[in-house]
Amino acid sequence: MNAYDISYNSLETFTKDLDPKNLKKLYDLGIKNLHDLFYYFPRAYDDRTNIMKIGDLRGEEYVVLKATILSVASPPTKSGLKMVKANATDGSGIIDLVWFQMPYLRKTLKPGEEYIFIGQIKSGYRFQMVNPEFKLSSSQRKISEGEILPIYSSSKALPQNSLRKIIHHFIKVYLHIFQENIPEEIIREYNILERREALKQIHFPTNNKLLEEAKRRFAIEELLILEMGIVQKRFQSEYISSGNYHLDDNKALVKKYLSTLPFSLTNAQKKVITEIYKDLNQGKIVNRLVQGDVGSGKTVVSMVVLLYMLENSYQGVLMAPTEILAVQHYLSIKDKFEALGVSVELLTGSFTGKKKQQILKNIADGKTGIVIGTHALIEENVVFKKLGMIVIDEQHRFGVIQRKTLRDKGVLANLIVMSATPIPRSLALSIYGDLDVSIIDELPPGRKPIKTKWISTDSDIKIMYDFIRKKLSQGRQAYFVAPLIEESEKLSAKSVEELQHEVSSYLPNFKIGVLHGKLKNNEKDEVMKQFKNHEFDILVATTVIEVGVDVPNSSIIVISDAQRFGLSALHQLRGRVGRGSYQSYCFLISKTDNDTSKARLQIMEETEDGFKIAEEDLRLRKSGEIFGTKQSGLSDLKFVDIVHDIKTIKLVKEISYRYLQRHKGQIDNVFLNKDIAEKFKES
Ligand code: ADP
Ligand code: MG
Repeated sequence: MNAYDISYNSLETFTKDLDPKNLKKLYDLGIKNLHDLFYYFPRAYDDRTNIMKIGDLRGEEYVVLKATILSVASPPTKSGLKMVKANATDGSGIIDLVWFQMPYLRKTLKPGEEYIFIGQIKSGYRFQMVNPEFKLSSSQRKISEGEILPIYSSSKALPQNSLRKIIHHFIKVYLHIFQENIPEEIIREYNILERREALKQIHFPTNNKLLEEAKRRFAIEELLILEMGIVQKRFQSEYISSGNYHLDDNKALVKKYLSTLPFSLTNAQKKVITEIYKDLNQGKIVNRLVQGDVGSGKTVVSMVVLLYMLENSYQGVLMAPTEILAVQHYLSIKDKFEALGVSVELLTGSFTGKKKQQILKNIADGKTGIVIGTHALIEENVVFKKLGMIVIDEQHRFGVIQRKTLRDKGVLANLIVMSATPIPRSLALSIYGDLDVSIIDELPPGRKPIKTKWISTDSDIKIMYDFIRKKLSQGRQAYFVAPLIEESEKLSAKSVEELQHEVSSYLPNFKIGVLHGKLKNNEKDEVMKQFKNHEFDILVATTVIEVGVDVPNSSIIVISDAQRFGLSALHQLRGRVGRGSYQSYCFLISKTDNDTSKARLQIMEETEDGFKIAEEDLRLRKSGEIFGTKQSGLSDLKFVDIVHDIKTIKLVKEISYRYLQRHKGQIDNVFLNKDIAEKFKES
């Protein structure tokens, strides 16, 4: 057995190193094999070399303090949680210390004794640490390897010291199993800490400098596995080469279609279409992300491309994330397309029996030129005669796997994904490493800016309803949106039913439709259609209306409990209005007193620029999920924070390109190749 495989052997096989009692305890921490154990990195360090002074604390950092307890108490709390509260001083200042659900600490912590406290600082009236680790400063250290000891996420069953011992033992005995998985020349060129040394240092650092180098190494290692995989695919595939096929470049049908539109294309739309034509005319496999803010007119672009492929003898599909959207796209083009002699079909999960069979047959025979649908298009029984173009709308809802399944149905795997999710420019390249990017950076002319107002008082809510009443009387329509809530949160947010109740009491003379997740697809479509036909004045809904719904007469959107939505969702929701020639309004209702929420609502009031909102969103959050990163592979990185490590992400992207270019797409490192294969296993 080779070293790589041994590292993935179950810990069960290490009977002489591990008390079998501990096996299950390790399993519960997610540690199943040697690799898991070695890559179970400390979440903090007890670093006696770097003890901070309370007087020097700045903000939200992870620190080690040495301070003497002044007092300990267990005051009652509103929530009923058991709390132990203490304060302590090191002579330079006082810090508050709070522990929840550990009532026994009341007795453990002794006023007058000096302790080491390790944890995250929170700033407030006074600096505070919540649930810090602590120990008597005079206590003996268990493992005398260095001044800096690891602190792992441990469990009751497997406490800190036991876990530390286990990891210490395995590193001593099995470190040699872990061979270098970054190619030699990259290690040398970028001065990267070697793998075994880094593993030793990350767990039991000699000093802070080496610890930092170890952290850098693992961020690079993790990113390399992802980026090398992405870039390598690109090198191995035909995406970057030309001459894969030939198109006749007929354009008559597209011209005819454009002449039926009541508007002409914006320059940005034209630019993007030209970019796509260019790929096609060079016989390149299209692999492109079209990014354009809400309302920038992505649909027309996709229709032009699909018609172009059709008149050059290829079928095309447009896949939407929801049935509502698919139906809307279908209805909006059906008549126009049929007038042009183009046969277009709708295919969603709701179709069954004879009807479905007929549609499938038409697609297989090539009678149907363009198919619009949902993920039902991915099903095995959907077979095309000559599929040449796939357009995926609102791509952030689809994963890489779904993209690939659909692509495999094509004669040509041309793919365009469209997204209204603005991604900060600094991230776009990394996130969509495998796609070319086109941006529609201009809205159609004549759009009036949407007026956005954050409303936080009951009296303002009344004024708002008066205002809406007036607008509805003038013939406009309005959306009211409630957040999706869990059963357990019922007290804190308005459900759709409650919202409907409130709306009907304020606006009794208007017709209200309701749209929520529990409705069946065809029921949802029916409600949407009725709203579009103005059979309702008001649509009360959950976020199902978030993506792409187009009702130009609806010029008002009210979002209740707006603090519960992310900036991205708010921006998408607001994009439901401002689609016609009427002045549109967005009301964000929130009584929040959370600073970050307030900042978010203010940004919404200040700007409509999706990119700016995305940048602000990035700035406001510490880490975590960013606009549209879910399916990118970047969001499940363990050691990289995509907000703070942007520089490293860029660096690794560059390293990967350079390396693969030099090596003609091949990686000269067995371990790295295996890691990549493992990571991209199911996509
Ligand atoms: P999105 O990019 O959000 O998908 P849509 O494609 O739904 O935007 O377009 C939004 C609205 O703008 C639609 O009503 C569409 O008909 C209209 N539209 C698209 N392109 C133009 C244009 N060049 N000039 C005027 N209106 C346009
Ligand atoms: Mg759209």
